[in-house]
Amino acid sequence: MSASNPSPAGGPLVEGPHDPEHDPTAAYALEPEYVEPLLARLVATSGRTVEVRSPLNGAPLAHLPQSSDADLDEAFARARRAQQAWARTSLEARSAALLRLHDLVLDRQDEIIDLIVWESGKARKHAFDEPLHIALTARYYARTARQHLDPQRKLGVVPGLTRVAVNRVPKGVVGIITPWNYPFTMALCDGLPALLAGNAVVAKPDAQTMLSALLAAQLLEEAGFPRDLWQVVSGPGPEVGGGIVERSDYVCFTGSTATGRIIARGCAERLIGCSLELGGKNPLLVLRDADLEKAAEGAVRATFSNGGQLCVSIERMFVADQVYDRFVERFVARTEAMTLGATLDWDNDMGSLISQAQLDTVTAHVEDAVAKGARVLTGGTARPDLGPYFFEPTILEGVTPDMTCFGRETFGPVVSLYRFHDEADAIARANEGEYGLNASIYSRDGARARAIAPYIKCGTVNINEAFAATFASIDAPMGGMRQSGLGRRQGSEGIHRFTETQSVATQKLLRFGPMLGMSDQAYGKVMTANLRLMKKLGRA
Ligand code: NDP
Repeated sequence: MSASNPSPAGGPLVEGPHDPEHDPTAAYALEPEYVEPLLARLVATSGRTVEVRSPLNGAPLAHLPQSSDADLDEAFARARRAQQAWARTSLEARSAALLRLHDLVLDRQDEIIDLIVWESGKARKHAFDEPLHIALTARYYARTARQHLDPQRKLGVVPGLTRVAVNRVPKGVVGIITPWNYPFTMALCDGLPALLAGNAVVAKPDAQTMLSALLAAQLLEEAGFPRDLWQVVSGPGPEVGGGIVERSDYVCFTGSTATGRIIARGCAERLIGCSLELGGKNPLLVLRDADLEKAAEGAVRATFSNGGQLCVSIERMFVADQVYDRFVERFVARTEAMTLGATLDWDNDMGSLISQAQLDTVTAHVEDAVAKGARVLTGGTARPDLGPYFFEPTILEGVTPDMTCFGRETFGPVVSLYRFHDEADAIARANEGEYGLNASIYSRDGARARAIAPYIKCGTVNINEAFAATFASIDAPMGGMRQSGLGRRQGSEGIHRFTETQSVATQKLLRFGPMLGMSDQAYGKVMTANLRLMKKLGRA
């Protein structure tokens, strides 16, 4: 694995670490004039701040103001007022704002990507996925708004005389709690359908990547969404995230399974709905008829995109015995050819991990596996020479159930390889454990791979692709089975979760009780005859 030059000049992007508060020669990673208007969008008046530094080189990014309980009250009050007016705007106006956002995100992608890279340390090519995904999401929901939200006619109980329609009514204020791994995508991808459905949003992004989320809020306003419709608060998850659960009409959460359970408990207490997009220990199957070059190329993206800090990334690979050695040789060679580096350009195949905590987890999983007998085929060590949190893309063999990384999510650039002899065995092993988010199958026989998919307990299955085929097909639902989550983003499910259904029935001529002096008994007989007739006529 080679390291690219940190900057075009050959030195680090910004020499660091610095603390401009105390060191007059020190510099922020970003211009304070750029950061200040973004921070001004936070509803945060507690007077407390938290410093955030760039994983690229440790330079400070911002001092984030923190929200108090009163700030949460204020954010929700503003959002509720804005939502009432917004719910009365036409679907055409809301869709038009989404299409303007689509254009803005594409036009401003360089700025968006720069900010994501500074905050997350990821490679530019992985940051590019974020504006791409938001443009796809905005276009999809703008163009399908009527299909999801127009009132739907339903069968009435008395044909011709009972007219039934189902309305989609907004929930009100949706709370969105998001993690650091895809800061721009996560800030917006669930919120866009929430807004389209007539809701307001109060968002609590992760502190490490707050600026990307605030830029997302700014772009929404520039696209024509009313400023107060999208509130952003900041602070520790248990306090400010908990405060969101206490005040929202619906909660949309992305993050760890452990926190997902806490959110679900809070929502259950209040009898409000939630959707939870949680972790995974995602399997990839290489069947014996797979195109091995294609599989090895896909395996690299499946495993090392964003340094493996991706809910749908692959951490377990099951490879048919007949092709195991040839696949592994190709996969290892492609992994070793990857370029690592902390730069803003397009030259790196993988960037930094986000934090010391992620580096510690990844290091602990690899050290535990090696200590218990796993073999490192490539990678296996941290790379402090490249940046504070770099870890090499790592391929392990001989991982056994007593090792932490066998069943626990690493959320880093580490994958375990396993041989399989027959497909039934591979499917059973892919289904082991508690998760069920994403799977991938490589085979030249698409029909055969599709026939296997229903036996894999995962919410998405990609055939001859890593995860992008399902993740970018916004018309299809995306989410986890088992401990990987509740509910779905994308498609109809992804917008209907932010609405309540309301059935409106208009009754003509007949009423539901005896008419024209009929006794209750006679009424019962007429209705019984009617039921029999309807069945004979084939009515549902
Ligand atoms: P968390 O689930 O702890 O955090 C995700 C978000 O939830 C953050 O905004 C966090 O805020 C907030 N939060 C934390 N605790 C609470 C709470 N009690 N109530 C409400 N909100 C809360 O994930 P981490 O960032 O700590 O990452 C830990 C692990 O989670 C990773 O190693 C990975 O395995 C998994 N993960 C999975 C993701 C996915 O996409 N499925 C994304 C990120 C992480 P704050 O950070 O301010 O505390």
